[in-house]
Amino acid sequence: MKKKVVVIGGGYGGLRAIEHLALQTDIDVTLIDKHPYHYLQTEAYGYIAGRFDLHDVVIDLQDWCSGFKKKVTFIYDHATDIDFASQKVKLCSSEVTYDYLIIATGAKTNFFSFIEGLREHSFGVKSLHRAHNFRAEFEKIIYKKLQNEDDAQEINLAIGGAGLSGVEVAAEMANVVAVYKKTLGNRVASVKIHLIDASKTILPGMSDFLVQSTHKRLKSLGVHILTDAFIQKMDDSFIYFNNGDTLAYHFMIFTGGIKASDLNETIDVQKNRILQFLPDEKLNIGGYENVFAVGDCVEIKDANGRILPPTAQTAERSAEYAAAAIRKKIDKQELKPFDAKVLGVFIALGGRYASGELFGTIKVTGYSAYLLKKAITYAYYLGLKLRLNTGYKNRTKTL
Ligand SMILES: Cc1cc2nc3c(=O)[nH]c(=O)nc-3n(C[C@H](O)[C@H](O)[C@H](O)COP(=O)(O)OP(=O)(O)OC[C@H]3O[C@@H](n4cnc5c(N)ncnc54)[C@H](O)[C@@H]3O)c2cc1C
Repeated sequence: MKKKVVVIGGGYGGLRAIEHLALQTDIDVTLIDKHPYHYLQTEAYGYIAGRFDLHDVVIDLQDWCSGFKKKVTFIYDHATDIDFASQKVKLCSSEVTYDYLIIATGAKTNFFSFIEGLREHSFGVKSLHRAHNFRAEFEKIIYKKLQNEDDAQEINLAIGGAGLSGVEVAAEMANVVAVYKKTLGNRVASVKIHLIDASKTILPGMSDFLVQSTHKRLKSLGVHILTDAFIQKMDDSFIYFNNGDTLAYHFMIFTGGIKASDLNETIDVQKNRILQFLPDEKLNIGGYENVFAVGDCVEIKDANGRILPPTAQTAERSAEYAAAAIRKKIDKQELKPFDAKVLGVFIALGGRYASGELFGTIKVTGYSAYLLKKAITYAYYLGLKLRLNTGYKNRTKTL
C-alpha cells in the first residue's frame, strides 16, 4: 500500500519537499495551501519597488502540482488544526489523513503589540496582498509628484527593521527613486528613504563584511540609516522614538520581526516566544516520529547551537532533510540528525548590485555579487516555471 505524505504550505520548504517526494512511486503526495499561489517572498523587494511584475513573484500551485509525472494532489484550503492521534489535518471544509506529515507553513510579520499604532500604520511584505498594497501606495506618491511640478514637500518612506529583508527593501526603493530622478528630475528628489533598527548596527548577527559593505552601499544610495533607534509608537503622521525624537513619515514598511503562522497557535507542542515549533534533532515535533516541521515555522539551530535566521535556504535544506527522512523511515533505515549549515548569504542592494558571502570565506560585492545572486534566483524561478508550464499543458489537455 502506498504511503500518504501530506505537506502543509506551498512556500520554499513545502515545494522543495514535494520535488523530492514526487519522484517516488510508492508515495502519494498531497499539498495544502491557503493560497492558490506560491509567493516568491525573496523577490518582494523588487515587486514593491516596481522593478518586477506580479508574474515574476507568483506561481500557480495547481498548475505546478500538475507538472509532475505522477499525481500530486493540490488542496486550496486553510489547515486549522492537526489531530496527531488519528493522523488527520483539519481544513476549513474537510479533513485529510496522512501517514507522514510535513508542516511548512512559514511565518508572518510580527507587528509587535508593545509598539502602539504599529499594526494600524505600517505595511508588511511577507504576504502578497500587503506587498501589493504598498506597491500601489508607492506608485501613487510618485504619480502625485509627477502632477505637482512645484511640490518640494519631503516624502519620508520608513522601513522598520534592518535585517536581510529590510536592507533589501531600503536599497531597492532608494535605487528606484534614483532611477525616477533621471526622468522626473527634482520632482522625486524629495522622496527620502529611512531605515530604522533598534540594534547597534544594520544586519544584526551577520558578518562584519556583510554589515560594512551593505552600510556603504545604502549610504551611497542616500538611505538615512537610524540604528539604536527604538520605536515607541506611531500615529498616522509621526514615528515616536524612545529618546524623544520624532520622524514625520508617509508610509512605513515593517520588517522588524516575524512570528510563526496561525496554525502553530492551535497546535499544542513545545514552541518558542515567537510561536515557532521547537523540534528534536530530526525535526520531529511533539515526539511524533512521522511529523516534521521545516522552514520559518520552526526554530532551527546550527551545530554550535546558534539559532539560524529564517531564510529560504534553511527552509529548503530542512525540507530536503524531511523528504529524505520519510524515505528512510519507509525503508526502515537509520536516520541521522539534521545538519543545518548555511552555505552562503547574498543580499540584493538595489539595481545591479549585491553583497554576498559563500562558505564563510568567499566575499563579493557589486555587479559580480549581483550576477551570482541573479543566477541563484533565476535557477529557482526557472525550475518552478518549467514545472508550471508542463502542468498548464497537462491540465488544459484534460479540460
Ligand atoms: C523581502 C524579503 C527578502 C528575503 N530575502 C531572502 C533572501 O535573499 N534569501 C533567503 O534565503 N531568504 C530570504 N527571505 C526569507 C524567505 O523568504 C523565508 O525564509 C522563506 O519564505 C521561508 O520559507 P517557508 O517555506 O518556511 O515559508 P513560506 O515561503 O512563507 O511559505 C509558507 C506557505 O504556507 C502557507 N500557509 C501558511 N499557513 C497555512 C495554513 N494554516 N494552511 C495552509 N497553508 C498555509 C502560506 O500560504 C505559504 O504559501 C526574504 C524574505 C523577505 C520578506
